[in-house]
Amino acid sequence: MLIDNHQRPITYLRLSVTDRCNLRCLYCMPAEGLDWIPHDAVMQDDEIMTLLEHVFLPLGVSKIRLTGGEPLIRKGLPRLIERMAALPGITDLSLSTNGIFLAPLAKRLAEAGLNRLNVSIDSLQPERFSTISRGGDLTRVLAGIEQALAVGFSHLKVNVVMIPGTNDDEIMDFAEWTLREAVHVRFIEMMHVGDRTFFDARKFLPVEAAMARIQERYALESSDRDLVGNGPARIMQIPGAAGTLGFISPMSRTFCDTCNRIRLTADGQIKACLMRPQETDLLGLLRGGASVEQMRELVIASLGFKPEHHDWGANLPIHRTMSQIGG
Ligand code: SAM
Ligand code: SF4
Repeated sequence: MLIDNHQRPITYLRLSVTDRCNLRCLYCMPAEGLDWIPHDAVMQDDEIMTLLEHVFLPLGVSKIRLTGGEPLIRKGLPRLIERMAALPGITDLSLSTNGIFLAPLAKRLAEAGLNRLNVSIDSLQPERFSTISRGGDLTRVLAGIEQALAVGFSHLKVNVVMIPGTNDDEIMDFAEWTLREAVHVRFIEMMHVGDRTFFDARKFLPVEAAMARIQERYALESSDRDLVGNGPARIMQIPGAAGTLGFISPMSRTFCDTCNRIRLTADGQIKACLMRPQETDLLGLLRGGASVEQMRELVIASLGFKPEHHDWGANLPIHRTMSQIGG
């Protein structure tokens, strides 16, 4: 079992399968995109499988989330998921997506053994959605969600990054969506890890404000729904609703105490903390012919870069964005 220097068990790997994306969300990346990682520097399927099977799983990682960039643009992803799902010891295999390519892939992803899906939607208004994502088509995302529910992804979460002055007037619309549909909406505070100029101009809306707005109309109750992977979200529910509401506060209230995660970037760098610049080159070791013991030791050593708490006040420089690290 991996235990960091602050006695936190590390069981959850967020694995980026690509840094590239078909969208350009305002807070995440500039309109022209970012400098993509060259193809030959990106982990190949066999390399990912070796690292999971011989390094992370033996160290006690049991939950894996595939992310990016946009994971659904990686070629052969369903087959890779199938291989991962066949590994003994993985109790939860999930994926975060912008949903644009979800409808045609949902059935194949379910058959491959993917357990859960998070879909990001920052507006339920087609034009506004297109503005925020710089060109995304909301109807395709909603069709993806419908298809995912139809093929049995029952714990489907919808991630909403609250952008002050842009989509915060839709908090009630998102909340009321859970009355009709079994979707689990998660309101997330915008972080300063993407387009910093954009963040500085907008700041963030504390999730307490979102909760208070919903409570103007509905008496929220704590949800006792046994949803896997709630992580740092506080889960509430409108009484009688089909879905739930989650509130994630990375800015106003950090959840470092319960952090159980480690990240692996698409180019095979271990990132022990999203908010710290240090990275450890695991892929370099693998490609250099290191033994599995050496690679496990590197993962253990990388936990030294996991602080007890990250400090927003210190205003640390962010060297790579969420999409480059694996959000
Ligand atoms: N492309 C996929 C998606 O959008 O779901 C997966 C990668 S994306 C980086 C993962 C999540 O990070 C998304 O829900 C996105 O909204 C969120 N995200 C990206 N930049 C963010 C920021 N600056 N603050 C808060 N959340 C952010
Ligand atoms: Fe792409 Fe996701 Fe970033 Fe939007 S949030 S630009 S969909 S990686």
